[in-house]
Amino acid sequence: MHRTFTMTRAAGLERLSDFLEGPGAAYSADRNTDRGPGNGPSTSMLSPYLRRRLITEAEVVAAADRAFGDGGAEKFVSEVFWRTYFKGHLETHPAAWTDFLAEVGHGHDLLAAEPGLRRIHESAIEGRAGIDGFDDWARELVETGWLHNHARMWFASIWIFTLRLPWALGAAFFMRHLVDGDPASNTLSWRWVAGLHTRGKHYVARAENIRRYTEGRFDPVGLDEYPDALDEPMPPREVALPQADPMPEGDVALLLHLDDLHPESLPLRGTKIVRIGGLIDHAQGASDRVKAADEAAMADALARATAHFACPGAPVGNGWADGLPVVTAWAPVGPSATAMPDGCLRVRRAWDDAAWPKSTRGYSRLRSAIPALRGA
Ligand SMILES: Cc1cc2nc3c(=O)[nH]c(=O)nc-3n(C[C@H](O)[C@H](O)[C@H](O)COP(=O)(O)OP(=O)(O)OC[C@H]3O[C@@H](n4cnc5c(N)ncnc54)[C@H](O)[C@@H]3O)c2cc1C
Repeated sequence: MHRTFTMTRAAGLERLSDFLEGPGAAYSADRNTDRGPGNGPSTSMLSPYLRRRLITEAEVVAAADRAFGDGGAEKFVSEVFWRTYFKGHLETHPAAWTDFLAEVGHGHDLLAAEPGLRRIHESAIEGRAGIDGFDDWARELVETGWLHNHARMWFASIWIFTLRLPWALGAAFFMRHLVDGDPASNTLSWRWVAGLHTRGKHYVARAENIRRYTEGRFDPVGLDEYPDALDEPMPPREVALPQADPMPEGDVALLLHLDDLHPESLPLRGTKIVRIGGLIDHAQGASDRVKAADEAAMADALARATAHFACPGAPVGNGWADGLPVVTAWAPVGPSATAMPDGCLRVRRAWDDAAWPKSTRGYSRLRSAIPALRGA
């Protein structure tokens, strides 16, 4: 497996089977080790596909269960549910997203006002901070569009607690470059590292841990290993999960977006899809690599959908829906939801309907429900 992501469903399914036949068997023992871009991965690297739902959580979990049995797939399945948890949590705490966007603006104001901070920020995103590992991950992110989970944790922690940079600017740097950049997983993981998600509990990167889990590739010095967690005056308020819409009967237009590109498995019930449109809204400041990945994934979904529903499909333009009711997969909080035209009828998958109500507080409630949710 390699770091170039071909953004089609077929490539995602191939990566899934390569993982199950290869590193999947040693996942729980190896998953924390980051061997670096030149070496075989210790994890699935399925995130760019799951993020756009070119492959779905339900089919990935079912395939892992088939390959390893319930017990054998436990750790991997639990990680997939972290993604679901973050999605459900952001859906019920949308202010975490709008606050993040506001904090990015505030962070840029600080950079403009404080030349010292601006220099530190520039050296951090260009891989010139002088910290072993951290500089390598900054370059790796820009050059490949992907980082191992542990590297993301170390990077975010050093950014916040050693370099003392605004956390939201780090999260925005990730969103610009990660091919799996996801409003929920990224924003809430940065908040978690900072100690804002589970208030007062922060993630502190330690040199010994980095040496060990990079197999000695990196040995940073000068890390602040005893910082206080960040705090904020008002945590994001919880809101009720909005209801999905009932599906109409008869002819409809189907709108595809970057958060759900497997329309073949949507519960569209009595509808008859007669037109398909693709809506692309990239993350703010997305790199050319991320934009290309979005466009390739959408082209793949449009080609599959037009064949599956036997009707015309193209990127959305004026009058694309021809006056028909427009149905769409639920767009969770983020750019697709923001760009969604008014009046679309939103259908939600059983997976999200079952899991999101259990994602409003900490992860443990959702984790306890995994045995019941597996088949959703
Ligand atoms: C600071 C920070 C930022 C992050 N930003 C993103 C992001 O923008 N997009 C994103 O998809 N993930 C993000 N993650 C979560 C995690 O790092 C990636 O999902 C994971 O590294 C992807 O690699 P993989 O596919 O090999 O994962 P595997 O270990 O093979 O796990 C399988 C799948 O489970 C999900 N998953 C695994 N770990 C996590 C986790 N900790 N949180 C949420 N979902 C998880 C992913 O969909 C992943 O593809 C972030 C984590 C941190 C600490």
